[in-house]
Amino acid sequence: MWVYRLKGTLDELDPLLPELFDRGARGLEERAGEVLAYFPAPLDLPFGGEWEELPDEDWLSAWKRDLSPVEAGPFVVLAPWHAWEGSGKRIVLEPGMAFGTGHHETTRMALSALGRHARPGGKALDLGTGSGILAIGAALLGMEALGVDIDPTVLPQAEENARRNGVAPRFLLGSLEEALPHGPFDLLLANLYAELHQALAEGYKKALKPGGVALLTGILKAKAEGVEEALEGAGLGVLEREEAGEWVLYAAAP
Ligand code: SAM
Repeated sequence: MWVYRLKGTLDELDPLLPELFDRGARGLEERAGEVLAYFPAPLDLPFGGEWEELPDEDWLSAWKRDLSPVEAGPFVVLAPWHAWEGSGKRIVLEPGMAFGTGHHETTRMALSALGRHARPGGKALDLGTGSGILAIGAALLGMEALGVDIDPTVLPQAEENARRNGVAPRFLLGSLEEALPHGPFDLLLANLYAELHQALAEGYKKALKPGGVALLTGILKAKAEGVEEALEGAGLGVLEREEAGEWVLYAAAP
């Protein structure tokens, strides 16, 4: 295992985090003014960090020690070793290679918004499912959920996480186009990035039933206006805008 050491705190480096995961980071840890990103092998990254090789047994236990339960809307996201006495619908995830442990603001906002907009008995699409967390949340709230992702390595983890939580969303390799034949959907959840939301806005309208809602996040504040324009251009009106740190979530509907 290799660690990529970046100067700064998790808050300061927040905009980089999805990209670190997209490039293969398996976990992140903050220590005394540094963020450590764990990778299976070193690679060429443009963020000015330094690489160091670690003994294999070290990294996972250190990272696990620092993960804490996350409360978001009706949910609490727990790792299997957490004891939790509080309330909330439990989502138990083995923090692994896929993005989506609930520790990122975007995932937390999406879970809270899911709590507000879930339609028990309806269909939900989780576009860019990662760990499967949003599809699992939708299924726990009684929806028939489909999770899709273009990364084939995350799907077995999403399946395993769903099994662990006693729900059975469907998971498919692909993106919006592959999901469309399984719709239309009452709820679309997508934690991606601004440019992709802009490109997919027309497709979101096609994917939704009349009266359906799209919950879109992974959008940096600085890029939110462009997403809003693309949604309106595609005939989707913004119902809600929520912010956490540098990030924005939109609820939009046809
Ligand atoms: N849904 C999880 C969450 O909210 O924590 C994970 C979100 S993670 C930021 C984005 C995921 O989208 C990654 O697993 C990535 O592989 C996937 N992804 C990226 N581009 C995609 C696309 N065009 N279609 C489908 N999935 C995509």
